[in-house]
Amino acid sequence: MDLLSKRFLHTHMRIANRRLVLEKIIGSDEISRVALAKSTGLTKATVSAIVADLIDDGLVVELGSGITARGRKPIMLKFAERSGIAAGVSIDADEIEIVVTDLYGTVLLEENIEITGCTPEKAVRIISSNLDRLAGRCGRSRYSLTGIGCAIPGIVDNRGIVVNAPYIRWQNVNFSEMLNKKTGVPVFCENVANMLTVAEIMHFPNEKAAICLRIRSGIRAGIIINGEIYTGGDGFAGEVGHMQVEPDGLPCACGQTGCWETRASERALRKSLVDSGFAPGTRTDYHVEANELSGNIFHEYARWLATGIVSLINMFNPVNIMLNSPMISSNDSILSLLNQELERRLTPLSFSSCRIELSTARRNAASIGAAVSAADRFISRMASIRREHE
Ligand SMILES: [Zn+2]
Repeated sequence: MDLLSKRFLHTHMRIANRRLVLEKIIGSDEISRVALAKSTGLTKATVSAIVADLIDDGLVVELGSGITARGRKPIMLKFAERSGIAAGVSIDADEIEIVVTDLYGTVLLEENIEITGCTPEKAVRIISSNLDRLAGRCGRSRYSLTGIGCAIPGIVDNRGIVVNAPYIRWQNVNFSEMLNKKTGVPVFCENVANMLTVAEIMHFPNEKAAICLRIRSGIRAGIIINGEIYTGGDGFAGEVGHMQVEPDGLPCACGQTGCWETRASERALRKSLVDSGFAPGTRTDYHVEANELSGNIFHEYARWLATGIVSLINMFNPVNIMLNSPMISSNDSILSLLNQELERRLTPLSFSSCRIELSTARRNAASIGAAVSAADRFISRMASIRREHE
């Protein structure tokens, strides 16, 4: 091995050790240096040196020690989650949600801004001015705003370019770069269903296969495989709303016809209800009084919903499917009708191996997932810093 690759390996190991120690500290409520050495397999001297740097960087704090009957208690260490803040933004055609969290993902402030029409330039203006104000209210911290995660209702490639978001009419927009130029902090964009899934993943962290379906104007899936979100070759996985379920069916915002979301989205359900005189008053008034006619509409809707879900179950064998839809959550009969349909259309084994659940995630879950991801990226960058004096 030549000198250069030895040097590279040495640096690489130091970064790996720093990351390992930081991950252990983040994963524990509090932990001592001795326990860190034991759980990482590193020497006490290495742990002490790394911890000293992390304290110096403001990422770890020491909690006080005490004297007990059995002697001096070790000084405990804790992740300094208030050393910075992260922001998550969810962009839609009629609303921009913004949340600000600490580096653990605890929500500090949130705001929902109603808009009409959303060009990228307008979104940059709204997000940057509101974030300025919200970040100001969080007080001073060492790193202040560490990053912004944006949840986009459309296709985002692995480089973060918004390739196509039909409902907000963005095509090939490098929104991360635009917002970064304005705010000066790292920005990334991701599909909204994936950001929602980051928030939902707490319910099934080690699940082999689970699917989170976000059903609004369109339908998108966050697919969890072995505890991680599967994004596909270029980042486009999960666009399940555009599975064709009806050749020559209704026109879809994507330009094709007969897509699943033309029948099974909330937009489709609301249209059937409005056409039959059951207009839910406002966009956020989801509950519909049950009677024979609304029951028929729900039954028809559950049939279309099942059409796509049957394919997803046969394809992925998920242990859970989480439905994130205010309209389905507000009308209990839909879930039981859906289960009846699934039982009829799946093999008994496939039907019994998958639980369909309603999401319990709070309203701004996608923005919270985006903020958590932004905090995660910041921590990852900080974990990879090479200290000069080492
Ligand atoms: Zn489509």
